[in-house]
Amino acid sequence: MLELEHSTWKRSLSTAIRDVETLVRALELPAEWAANATEAVKSFPVLVPRSFLARMRIGDPHDPLLRQVLPVIEESFSQPGFVVDAVDDQAARKAPGLLQKYQSRVLLIAAGACAVNCRYCFRRHYPYGEEPKRLDDWEPALAAIERDPTVHEVILSGGDPLLLPDDRLGRLIERLEQIEHLTRLRIHSRLPIVLPDRVNAELIDQLRNSRLQPVMVVHANHPQEIQGDCAEALRLLVRSGIPTLNQAVLLRGVNDSVEALASLCERLIDVGVMPYYLHQLDRVAGTAHFEVPEATGLELIAELRKRLPGYAVPQLVREVAGELSKTPVSSRSLTD
Ligand code: SF4
Repeated sequence: MLELEHSTWKRSLSTAIRDVETLVRALELPAEWAANATEAVKSFPVLVPRSFLARMRIGDPHDPLLRQVLPVIEESFSQPGFVVDAVDDQAARKAPGLLQKYQSRVLLIAAGACAVNCRYCFRRHYPYGEEPKRLDDWEPALAAIERDPTVHEVILSGGDPLLLPDDRLGRLIERLEQIEHLTRLRIHSRLPIVLPDRVNAELIDQLRNSRLQPVMVVHANHPQEIQGDCAEALRLLVRSGIPTLNQAVLLRGVNDSVEALASLCERLIDVGVMPYYLHQLDRVAGTAHFEVPEATGLELIAELRKRLPGYAVPQLVREVAGELSKTPVSSRSLTD
């Protein structure tokens, strides 16, 4: 049974769309949408799992899920203020694969790839090739965590840490469990959204049986993502007792309307997932066409407060390099 489930998500990943012509054909769009992508795919290829594709509208070039994954010519334009490492990851690198920006928690770049390539990605230029691949390569990072008793939480990130096969993920978690002062394991993953069959029995068992308290943080931006197999995977995580939160990015043309955000928050709550953060876009080179002004973000949050219970409204934040936490956006901190 477990073997079957294991091979299911691997097979789903192997059938993902990896070129723009196939993506455009599958959605019955005019071929010029593919021609518009030629420059952009040179630096960041197309990657779209079939499950995510199945939630897009056929024939609609403005579909909000398609917009997140379709390369466009604007990615090649340089814009002042949009840089390669917008969140200063390299300054936070304490050892190969280990980043620390905030007190009491550290982040491991556990995998160098994702199951989907989001065009607005804050790590689309990250030098993943320089990070550890085998478990042994992690030892300097693990030793650094061992030496610092103020660290209580490890965040597995990437790339997407759930692209690690169950056995490798299991061995990494076991190694972390040996570090006495760790109490929590957070996983940042978009796989439950874009490749839902990754949420299999073995993964659930690994997380439930760990000495470390697991916290899952998924990443969905639009209500159309939370349906079918994705909604089932999220329900399974939640009903298995794993606290599950969502972080979204405020994206022009995707979710910059109160209708889209309210519906996203309601669908999340209805499957038991707590809306956590709504991020202002990190100013990464090639993503300027996605940016929404902070003032608009604040207006949207104010509207959400009128429509939704307080627990369903995410916090609007921006990551500011060098700050000791994510920075809440308020009318006093507007940068636009
Ligand atoms: S899942 Fe996250 S890390 Fe991966 S491409 Fe999308 S935004 Fe980037």
